[in-house]
Amino acid sequence: MARPVRVRFAPSPTGPLHIGGVRTALYNYLFARKHKGTMILRIEDTDQNRFVPGAENYIIESLRWVGIEIDEGQGIGGPHGPYRQSERKEMYAQYALDLIERGYAYYAFDTEEDLETMRKRLEAGGMHPAYDAVSRMSMVNSLTLPADDVKARLEQSNPYVIRIKLPRKEDIRFHDNIRGWVTVNSSQLDDKVLLKSDGMPTYHLANVVDDYLMGISHVIRGEEWLPSAPLHIMLYRYLGWEDVMPEFAHLPLLLKPEGNGKLSKRDGDRLGFPVFPLEWKDPATGEVSSGYRETGYYPEAVANMLALLGWHPSDNREVFTMTELIEAFTLEKVSKSGAKFDLQKALWFNHHYMMEKPVSEIAEPLMKIAADAGYNPKKEYMESVVSLMREKVNFANEIISSGYYFFTSELKYNEEAIRKKWNSTTNAHLLSLSALFDESVDFKHDQLENIYKNYCESVGMKPGELMQPLRVAVSGEASGPPVFDLISLLGKSEVHARIRHATETIAPLSA
Ligand code: GLU
Repeated sequence: MARPVRVRFAPSPTGPLHIGGVRTALYNYLFARKHKGTMILRIEDTDQNRFVPGAENYIIESLRWVGIEIDEGQGIGGPHGPYRQSERKEMYAQYALDLIERGYAYYAFDTEEDLETMRKRLEAGGMHPAYDAVSRMSMVNSLTLPADDVKARLEQSNPYVIRIKLPRKEDIRFHDNIRGWVTVNSSQLDDKVLLKSDGMPTYHLANVVDDYLMGISHVIRGEEWLPSAPLHIMLYRYLGWEDVMPEFAHLPLLLKPEGNGKLSKRDGDRLGFPVFPLEWKDPATGEVSSGYRETGYYPEAVANMLALLGWHPSDNREVFTMTELIEAFTLEKVSKSGAKFDLQKALWFNHHYMMEKPVSEIAEPLMKIAADAGYNPKKEYMESVVSLMREKVNFANEIISSGYYFFTSELKYNEEAIRKKWNSTTNAHLLSLSALFDESVDFKHDQLENIYKNYCESVGMKPGELMQPLRVAVSGEASGPPVFDLISLLGKSEVHARIRHATETIAPLSA
């Protein structure tokens, strides 16, 4: 029988979760759901120096916001807890000791100075400065020291680390579900520390031990971990767990929009898009980084966009709900090459999801934004504004900023439009039109448009000529939603007042 699918997202709480990390979590989640498996959240916090307060909560909240459900793990619980590695620290040493016992690891007593001297010596000889199968033989460790010396040092509690003992020259071959067969020669690897002098495991030991103890069937993680995979393979082999070793899938990097190099926070700042799911305030510096949520992205749009950054369906569909993603997702269709972040596409997705939503759902959160800006529209009015404006914007909150004129009569008149479209007769025409609008009974689009057209015809003007001045007079803007809908929604007395005010304020400007 096939092994039950158990996957984990295993972030380190060293700061806000990067959007690339959210994609890793998403792919794990899609894979888990597709195979009726279990999605686990494990917090890898063994490096206490890099611990950032608030980061763990941030991770949990980010996943929740995007719609990634955790079945087992930190914040949820489950049969393999605790799920925070710092709370599991007693569990790891025994595996490192077991490896020593079986000749696959050794104690190393080298001081910082010893290590520095070794590095300098190797560099001077033009060699890669690594603690490896060759250099270990001239270092202070249980491979080079007499057994009683080792024993004495341990009894005297001399500080030590435990290192893996890798073979000198051996091909390590493993299968990656995205990259196919990967072969790395052990001469390229160093004898990584497994257990640190403070008794804490390193990432490598804790990660492999926990994947084993938690019954992980597939390790789906970012490409930056590919270089660690051969070491992990060796650990599984040495620990005798090869038959239950998870399958590996290393996901392509998320690249800068230009395509060269990994997407970083600086790219986001430079090009004006968030690289974090939620806004983040650095607890040490107070620096605030923008988030997708606060910028006004919908979680469905973010999930859809992220899914397609590095994975493609077998047809060329682009719009997927989470359920559809689960159905369509396969690791085989994850690409090997990096995926370029595309801001226009992100905006397109957001716009798409906004157009799909019920108007009332978009209007609801805007009531608060409007109130904060000092406006007090009725919910019904807000819904009408949303209906008119959403076609024009990518984010719902832009409806308030770009459509401010729906909520206040204090307008900023577009100067360029005035320069181009206002002449000595414009104000008079606007006033005549306003008087005719006042006579409209239903004050709805069609009637208003008829009044306008008839007026233009009666004075021998082309219908386009007065259109922009009319729009500027009632909204200040040179473009926006259909002008007669706008006028209809503003209402008779407001339109009357606005046109009057415009004609009293605006005078033709020389070109
Ligand atoms: N703790 C690692 C990280 O921060 C996990 C890598 C893995 O999934 O093995 O990404």
